[in-house]
Amino acid sequence: MQTPHGSVETPAFMPVGTQGAVKGVTHRDLDDLGAQIILGNTYHLFLRPGDGLIARAGGLHKFIGWDRPILTDSGGYQIFSLADRRRVSEDGAEFQSHLDGSRHLLTPERATDVQAQLGSDIAMVLDECIATPADDTAARAAMERSVRWAGRARRRLLQLRGDDPDPAVTVTNPGQAQFGIIQGGVHHALRTESVQATVEIGFEAYAIGGLSVGEPPEVTYDLVGHTAPQLPEDRPRYLMGSGMPDDLIECVARGVDLFDCVLPTRNARNGQLLTRTGPIAIRNTRYAEDPAPPDPGCGCYTCRHFSRAYLRHLYVAREMAAATLNTLHNLYFYLDTMRAVRKAIMSGTFDKLRSEFHQTFSRRSQH
Ligand SMILES: [Zn+2]
Repeated sequence: MQTPHGSVETPAFMPVGTQGAVKGVTHRDLDDLGAQIILGNTYHLFLRPGDGLIARAGGLHKFIGWDRPILTDSGGYQIFSLADRRRVSEDGAEFQSHLDGSRHLLTPERATDVQAQLGSDIAMVLDECIATPADDTAARAAMERSVRWAGRARRRLLQLRGDDPDPAVTVTNPGQAQFGIIQGGVHHALRTESVQATVEIGFEAYAIGGLSVGEPPEVTYDLVGHTAPQLPEDRPRYLMGSGMPDDLIECVARGVDLFDCVLPTRNARNGQLLTRTGPIAIRNTRYAEDPAPPDPGCGCYTCRHFSRAYLRHLYVAREMAAATLNTLHNLYFYLDTMRAVRKAIMSGTFDKLRSEFHQTFSRRSQH
């Protein structure tokens, strides 16, 4: 995948850098880990420090000192999860800041403008996220509204790109791509309709939204398997917000190219380390005098230098280094798994990797 800030080998995993930083680690660490692209959250950056400030600083890349690709979400997902602090109409989503209670209206046009000012390499359209499970009627209404919003977001981006840009909006990355988002809940027919209508509008590429929101993995796999093959073959396909490592393998098998997920970083801060056999809870007493690294098969900085006993001590003592070292390991696990997947695809051995992965990996905590 080509972007104004370089290419990304796919399938790829994007570490989540919510507020312009991946929690617990530095950009230097991300370089060492081989992260090719990171994700920024528009909702958070819009409220603080503000897209205007970031635009005046020359855009998000310059502001945060990261010169590789960045994808930003539309801000919609966070707003929809504010539950009692938002009101949705055809115009957009009105919400109250979780920081100071101030009121804002995010429309499809505004979400496009904010991301144009941030200057990410990939911007996402604003879509309507609904709680699952949703009945047919609610899922259809949200899908159809998402299509209308996608059309408005696209028209706005083309206006910003064209001869009649808005002087109030500073486009900091003229090569920014915009991805459409497929909705439709757990309903096959709605997903198909959403694909047709969204591809009809025409975006640089497409994402599958509204999954990995608590439904069983088989349901996710089934819907990804139904939806991904209908998307244009020559464009990357992005599964939003997924998932555990076994989810990534299964969704690659169904044609997905891009993933993002907070699990490796959030779980690291909660003391959960992923290993080839499954997750371990480092605070467990059984590791108090365990001299082995978290995952003896892992080549990350943490596993090459430190024991489970030391990492348990850091976690229990609430040292900041605990979050950093655990995050380095978990991100390495995800990024290294994707490296292995890419290599296996190139050498025609992906099916073998897939079955071996499932034989050893269990998502139940190991201890
Ligand atoms: Zn490791």
